[in-house]
Amino acid sequence: MSELALLGGDPVIDSPLPRYNSIGDAEVAALQSVAESGLLSGFYGSWRDEFFGGPRVRGLEERWAERFGVNHAVAMNSATSGLYAAMGALGIRPGDEVIVPPWSMSATVVCPLLYGGVPVFVDLESETFCLDPDAVANAITPRTKAILAVNLFGHPARLDALRSLAERHDIALIEDNAQAPLAQDGDRYTGTIGDIGIFSLNYHKHIHTGEGGICVTDDEDLARRLQLVRNHGENVVKAIGIEDITNLVGFNFRMTEMAAAVGIEQLKAADLHVRRRQRVAEELSAGVRGLAGLRPPAVRDGCRHVYYMWALSLETDRFGVSRDLFARALRAEGFPVAEGYVQPLYLLPLFQQRNAFGGTDHPIARAETSYSRGTCPVAERLEEKEVLLFQPPIYDIDEHHAKGLVEALRKVHDNIDRLAEAELEEAA
Ligand SMILES: *Cc1c(COP(=O)(O)O)cnc(C)c1O
Repeated sequence: MSELALLGGDPVIDSPLPRYNSIGDAEVAALQSVAESGLLSGFYGSWRDEFFGGPRVRGLEERWAERFGVNHAVAMNSATSGLYAAMGALGIRPGDEVIVPPWSMSATVVCPLLYGGVPVFVDLESETFCLDPDAVANAITPRTKAILAVNLFGHPARLDALRSLAERHDIALIEDNAQAPLAQDGDRYTGTIGDIGIFSLNYHKHIHTGEGGICVTDDEDLARRLQLVRNHGENVVKAIGIEDITNLVGFNFRMTEMAAAVGIEQLKAADLHVRRRQRVAEELSAGVRGLAGLRPPAVRDGCRHVYYMWALSLETDRFGVSRDLFARALRAEGFPVAEGYVQPLYLLPLFQQRNAFGGTDHPIARAETSYSRGTCPVAERLEEKEVLLFQPPIYDIDEHHAKGLVEALRKVHDNIDRLAEAELEEAA
């Protein structure tokens, strides 16, 4: 048995994994044609035809809505903007509560703050890392306005259960679908099951336009409000006769024609880009199945996981070495994994000090909801001890590399006793 690279042996994979580049000739040609047209953005912030943006922005929206089977798609300059716009469109007011998971990109949990909303953190299911519907049910109060579910790492949250909770309490279900384009629950795409779904097109996602985001909804009124928040709604509400102007003070969240042109090409190839990465993740999962103490990502019956992250869980109690040493050993073999994802987001200084927009006058300063350590024990355990992450979308992995990754995992696993000795020596 060969020596672990961490302890001086040869690594299984001896060169860095190549980066995936989804930008090809079609995208280059699309960008060139926008540049030659001179129309780099088609928006105007007042009531005229250009209020809705240029031809490529509208073209992308039309194709996106068709591809995902929704009535409306509203392009934004990022998913972060889309999340803020969703909170605006819903009419979130000071003191309204929005239920959020503690594990996500920070934009998910800060978006209610802009309108004075109070994020209420609810714990995760340990299997899928998405919101636990039973815990959500216990957290709903008369002040709850929305549930913001994240289809984390590319796997659907329990959207049906969350949907029925939302209906029962007459509140909204919003899906942060930034990590899960083309993920499915049965024959439905994630992002299309809530009242509004938000996709990201930033550089790190499965398909991208550099920066960009798209909100989808079947509701005409919500679509219009999203457009008004996107583009200086204050100038337009009178002309189009909007009665409830709550939160329709607008921003400039507009997508450029360049981004939209790239987005149209990326959407055409989306199945291919997603499937390639999905296949790598599935090979890794098959490779670790049966290794004691290691659990590949769960896929709920009837769901399609698109693996923004491939999350490997360690049964730390039975494993013999710490997750962090296991991760170091894997990295030494050439398998780039990270220990955990992000600290549970209520631990950010903004929640610890309860200081957001307006400093400590913000409603979170007086809110009763907890932001202390211990608020979401499952998320804390996953982050601190259990989960290792590998990000398939950023690498271009062929058969040879995939085999190497599995071999690296097996090699470290086979050498757990050696690693445990080394950990003891390190501690001494
Ligand atoms: C990437 C991401 C975002 C933010 O996307 P941007 O387009 O960069 O603003 C939001 N939520 C989640 C879950 C993400 O992964």
